[in-house]
Amino acid sequence: MTKHQSQYLIKKNNNEYEVVIGLEVHAQVLSNSKLFSSSPTKFGAEPNTQVSLVDAAFPGMLPVINEFCIKQAVKTGIGLNAKINKRSIFDRKNYFYPDLPQGYQISQYKNPIVGEGSVTLDLPSGEKKIGIERLHLEQDAGKSIHDLDPENTFVDLNRSGVALMEIVSKPDLRSPDEVNIYIKKLRSIMRYLGTCDGNMQEGSLRADVNVSVRKKGDKKFGTRCEIKNVNSIKFMQMAIEYEANRQSNLIENGETIDQETRLFDTKKNETRSMRSKEDAHDYRYFPDPDLLPLELGDEFIENLKKEIPELPDQKKKRFIEKFKLTPYEANILVSDIETSRYFEEVIKNSDVKLSVNWITGELFALLNEKNLEISHSPISAKNLSKLINLIKDGTISGKIAKTVFELMIETDKNPLKIIEEKSLKQQSDPKELEKIITKVITDNADKVKEYKSGKDKLLGFFVGQVMKVSGGKANPQLVNEILKKKLK
Ligand code: ADP
Ligand code: MG
Repeated sequence: MTKHQSQYLIKKNNNEYEVVIGLEVHAQVLSNSKLFSSSPTKFGAEPNTQVSLVDAAFPGMLPVINEFCIKQAVKTGIGLNAKINKRSIFDRKNYFYPDLPQGYQISQYKNPIVGEGSVTLDLPSGEKKIGIERLHLEQDAGKSIHDLDPENTFVDLNRSGVALMEIVSKPDLRSPDEVNIYIKKLRSIMRYLGTCDGNMQEGSLRADVNVSVRKKGDKKFGTRCEIKNVNSIKFMQMAIEYEANRQSNLIENGETIDQETRLFDTKKNETRSMRSKEDAHDYRYFPDPDLLPLELGDEFIENLKKEIPELPDQKKKRFIEKFKLTPYEANILVSDIETSRYFEEVIKNSDVKLSVNWITGELFALLNEKNLEISHSPISAKNLSKLINLIKDGTISGKIAKTVFELMIETDKNPLKIIEEKSLKQQSDPKELEKIITKVITDNADKVKEYKSGKDKLLGFFVGQVMKVSGGKANPQLVNEILKKKLK
């Protein structure tokens, strides 16, 4: 794809509009307890069973910082190639909401724990760097439940106080596709690091999507709207498309865009105004007097650097250099850490090219069909590796291998056992093959005549017949060789 084709432009009359997007991703820190209390954070617990007096904001309760959450945020910052700020400050962001018993959220404002960084996207047109503005830590709020009762709203405080990392991108994204790739890359990095499980269904990853448009070629950004709390990539993309269209229509009609906070209605597939955008001063931010500034020592940061595993970008580079994968293949295999582990396990003892083909082909299709993660694959890496070796050494053909693969799904048995039990071994004994071939030739005398008079294409027919008679077990290469000799 050329650069031009991948550009996302909206045509209105004689004008073309470019869309500009910046994301504020809220990623739930993977941690057993909350940011300032020891309550558990398990998903799906009975309402209000994971709430301490701190989370419920009883008077006089004091927050105590959870060191593990700090470590998780710093690790994520390192994974985003970002500056780690050795001094950061927790502020109170004041607002009223029934699911916010404190009346304020503890967040970081002017002095976040992580500063500028970047994430590299693999686009069809090549690599693109998306700037990261900052990452700060904050508490999640509780949840208001409106649909359990016709007259009452319930509040569940289980989520109240859970640690979130807000990862703010620069306005560097230019299309719904780039947003898709960006979110997946961010999620992949955090999963490698073990700092966020990235589970969007459970709300562990959601984003505020900032969208503006400008005429193609304009240098200045347009006025943005912020679409709050979108919890699936599909919805983010739909919201951007809707919003880009709405805004360019307004401009076309000579109107201006109001900076506002909007909501994406997933049923009507449209965004709606919630309120005009609040400014920072509306929140009366001030440093939380219950918490000291957070100071990190060099050693603390250095020790965390040592815990950073090989991340997707490095792994991709290694796979390309060491295993001669194409960038495309490498991308697929590193995007998920479990997939990369599975792949490395298989190729410990097997041919790389065949392994790539079988994992990205047969295995992915199977997992897709059964809706399974690779960590729950019905076929272990060890047994797939054995199957691949049986193809490589000619014990079975690729076609029979597919049959064996099907049989492995139920039992994850050693493929060699299956081959023996079902007598699926490839026939590579020339004498046996000759017998079959002679029979096929005598049975098809007329076709033989045609072949000899120059109809070369018929060779395929003879090979097919031999394969049929052998029950698919004849070694195709040998069959070809012997047939050619016999038909001369
Ligand atoms: P706020 O807290 O007011 O939403 P932030 O600075 O935290 O402000 O977040 C602003 C987000 O909006 C960032 O992700 C940034 O990239 C994005 N953004 C800023 N200006 C624009 C714009 N003109 N068009 C689209 N996105 C923008
Ligand atoms: Mg915002």
